[in-house]
Amino acid sequence: MNTTKNAGMERVEEIKQMHLENKPKLCNDCFAEFVFTAGEQRFILILEAEGKTNSNGSPIIYTEPKRCAGCRMKRKLAKKNTAT
Ligand SMILES: [Zn+2]
Repeated sequence: MNTTKNAGMERVEEIKQMHLENKPKLCNDCFAEFVFTAGEQRFILILEAEGKTNSNGSPIIYTEPKRCAGCRMKRKLAKKNTAT
């Protein structure tokens, strides 16, 4: 192990070992129950730790989803349609 390893990578290793649990959530739009899975949480935490950015170039920050996958998809499509 050397000390030149960057902090982001160490954080990623930490996240991989982290104990996460599936979180039941309620959708803001359709009020359906959905699960924010441990796998999804870990995925976003790792993207954040690696300093990844999303499609608009803003850094990815770990937040809990407020909507179910169906409603998120609908909003994405609606945005796309109005953007063009
Ligand atoms: Zn929904």
